[in-house]
Amino acid sequence: IRWDTEHGWHDARLEPYAPLSLDPATAVFHYAQELFEGLKAYRRADGSIAAFRPQANAARFNASCERMAMPPIPEETFVRSLELLVDTDRDWVPAQEGHSLYLRPFIIATQRGLGVNSPSSSYLFIVIASPSAAYFTGGIKPVSVWLSEEYTRAAPGGTGAAKCGGNYAAAFVAQAQAVQEGCDQVVWLDANEHRWVEEMGGMNLFFVYGSGADARVVTPSLTGTLLPGITRDSLLKLAPDLGIPAAEGRISTDQWREGNASGELTEVFACGTAAVITPVGRVKSARDEWLVGSGEPGPVTMRLREELVGIQYGDRPDPYGWIYKLA
Ligand code: PMP
Repeated sequence: IRWDTEHGWHDARLEPYAPLSLDPATAVFHYAQELFEGLKAYRRADGSIAAFRPQANAARFNASCERMAMPPIPEETFVRSLELLVDTDRDWVPAQEGHSLYLRPFIIATQRGLGVNSPSSSYLFIVIASPSAAYFTGGIKPVSVWLSEEYTRAAPGGTGAAKCGGNYAAAFVAQAQAVQEGCDQVVWLDANEHRWVEEMGGMNLFFVYGSGADARVVTPSLTGTLLPGITRDSLLKLAPDLGIPAAEGRISTDQWREGNASGELTEVFACGTAAVITPVGRVKSARDEWLVGSGEPGPVTMRLREELVGIQYGDRPDPYGWIYKLA
């Protein structure tokens, strides 16, 4: 779907996957006016195909658009474009357990010219549909994380809360460092003090305190420098309904160390569309390294995971109205 100052959104088309032809002076190549979303269509227990909270993705997309001086897209148009794709061929949505159809809506600035004075006057919105396999095969594996004290992902007033490609481009160097340190993922800290935990490269974080009936979860507050994850938001609603109080707050790296040492902090997990919920097993920084709990997936992590996956695939009821039938 195209947008320009004269026509607004227009020219919606469904086309086979193919390369785009763009002028080398197209705005997005030079000034990175680009952003995206990521969500999945699931084949559910009753045979229907549904997305999980696509309206929330539309809302986040439009909030990102506002930050990047791009035109918002009406929620109905955003959701309708997903329906249109899934309706074209239901068989695109894989039937195997844990598989899904990944949907990648994105928008790029298409004005031609090298001037940098104002935002582009034309844009292109596209949705790619691509089958995706189960994130975990052969059991849930905890990830190891590297506390990145050298690099920051986002600064106050910047684009950290927007899902723009530039945030990810700036993250590759820290991700490479994490891998070099023998870890799977980066944990980003705040830009000012480098000690408040923010999020991971593509997932939000939750900390579990206590165990059994006394377990509660805390996730870093939305400070403007981390992405407001839809999985994160869903867990803040779901956990209390399962008897697990959930709060937003601040967690420093020292509190993480101390909570772990005292046994008060029992589990840590990451959450996002891709892996739903992933346990964090090991933490490494420039000066130390520790296991979270036993280093194995904990009971609160697995309970929340089971519930959320159950709602997505239709094995559990959805009292929240999160499931949106696409076909
Ligand atoms: N943080 C970042 C930086 C991400 O890229 C993602 C994935 N969209 C998330 C958190 C998790 O968000 P969601 O639950 O909406 O997938």
